[in-house]
Amino acid sequence: MAAKLDLDAQALRVEYEAATTITVNEIARKHGCSTFVIGRLLHKAGTVIRHAHGRTDIKPGAAAALYLNGYTKKAVARALGCAPTTVTRLLKEAGVAERPRSLTRGKCPHPGCRRYLSAKGGALKNHERVKHADRTPAIGTENSEG
Ligand SMILES: [Zn+2]
Repeated sequence: MAAKLDLDAQALRVEYEAATTITVNEIARKHGCSTFVIGRLLHKAGTVIRHAHGRTDIKPGAAAALYLNGYTKKAVARALGCAPTTVTRLLKEAGVAERPRSLTRGKCPHPGCRRYLSAKGGALKNHERVKHADRTPAIGTENSEG
């Protein structure tokens, strides 16, 4: 009952690595067996599996250029033939700040901070002052807080 095992692991690896855009899924479909079987054979052959979000065929600059031209992330994804999550990653790699989702709420511009705050009423300014104030150490603070 080893019908599926007549697939040559090394040949699969060559096939997988030759076509940079082919997925384990596509190879499985092509050979009429499960992704599990293909995955196991590729692993056996020492293949490094590409992950869905690890596309290297699209340059961050390409995504950034479209995005900065007013394309939405969805539109960029469509134009480049990838997932919106990939666009998010590419923009990050290109160092492009994402536009706020809404005009009334703004994302805190500080790296690593994911707070969305109302642009009205100074909420963002207030948040910045409280959370990201440039606290240059005061002189002679013997009883410092914390
Ligand atoms: Zn913040």
